[in-house]
Amino acid sequence: MEVYNFSAGPATLPNSVIQQIKDDLPSYKNSGMSVMEISHRSELFEEIIQQAQQDLRGLLQIPDNYSVLFFQGGCTLQFSAAPLNLAIKYHRIALLDSGHWAIRAMEEAKKVKTTVDILASTKKNHYSRLPTLSDFPQDEYDYLHITTNNTIEGTAYKKIPQIGQTPVVADMSSNFLGQKYQITDFGLVMAGAQKNLGIAGLTVVIVKNDLFAHAKNLPSMLDYQLFSQKNSMFNTPPVFAIYVAGLVLRWLKQQGGVLEMQKRNQKKSNLLYDFLDESKLFTAPVKKADRSLTNVVFVTGDKSINSQLIAQAKDYGLLNIKGHRLVGGMRASLYNAMPYAGVEKLVSFLGKFEKDYWGKH
Ligand SMILES: *Cc1c(COP(=O)(O)O)cnc(C)c1O
Repeated sequence: MEVYNFSAGPATLPNSVIQQIKDDLPSYKNSGMSVMEISHRSELFEEIIQQAQQDLRGLLQIPDNYSVLFFQGGCTLQFSAAPLNLAIKYHRIALLDSGHWAIRAMEEAKKVKTTVDILASTKKNHYSRLPTLSDFPQDEYDYLHITTNNTIEGTAYKKIPQIGQTPVVADMSSNFLGQKYQITDFGLVMAGAQKNLGIAGLTVVIVKNDLFAHAKNLPSMLDYQLFSQKNSMFNTPPVFAIYVAGLVLRWLKQQGGVLEMQKRNQKKSNLLYDFLDESKLFTAPVKKADRSLTNVVFVTGDKSINSQLIAQAKDYGLLNIKGHRLVGGMRASLYNAMPYAGVEKLVSFLGKFEKDYWGKH
């Protein structure tokens, strides 16, 4: 039975990447060592990290005045690193409260003594739509923090909110490389790899060089300047995670790049949203214009139906469609590596489940 993993993260990887890892594992490029065992200072790894950075630059058209940095500590660590490196003039940032990860970013920024002003929030709407800027704010900010794709609530920005020249810092963890954005719209992009780029242990930061040039005396592991100078190898980097990201990036290039991925993600999510909007049993609660291409949230309004559905789906080879504990219901994550056939199978299963349900009620 073909099994599809709809997990929000760590998430499904392309089959060909898993196969490549398997082939490479005992002896990487006939070195007699696995990638897990080679020095990060070796030529073999040097080539891996250079190629990954180069492919990422190509795929996202990253200009030369931006650094591409690889960190550990997850995207969560960047919620501290971004204010430490960038919020040094006003010690004040603006934030759009689009849900859980925005609030987490706010909490971490406050801990490093940064004032955070929430300029708009859709908490009252249970985050079923995106907050937007209405008035131009009075205060000056080091940056505006946004979450391009809200993994838990299932919303995503198509157009990036801006306040004049204020740099935008974007947590792009869950639609990085899955939806096309212009890098020059951002001062900084952060993305944990385990959603759409590979495995946990690696976080990518793409940051405009002039924004972090003046930060001083930061802990080394949070210091953008240092990581930029040392090409992300100040200490031992997550060698295996960078290797996997390199394979995923190569796969992405072969598939046709980010715009092609966006088209496919659009097509996959349309298939599911169209079904949900027609259904009398299931509802997609997110406002249509704000719907995420990569994380589709849906509900029935009845917890026992949800648990039956999730259990039956699992038996049918459709894994991890349980919603986040904060939202409940169901969530299907349709990242780049999820094939269209996986969504077809999910929709056909949901249709069958619904038919059975109305047969009994
Ligand atoms: C998963 C996720 C995070 C947290 O990432 P970690 O790597 O676990 O720290 C942050 N923001 C968004 C949007 C996410 O989806």
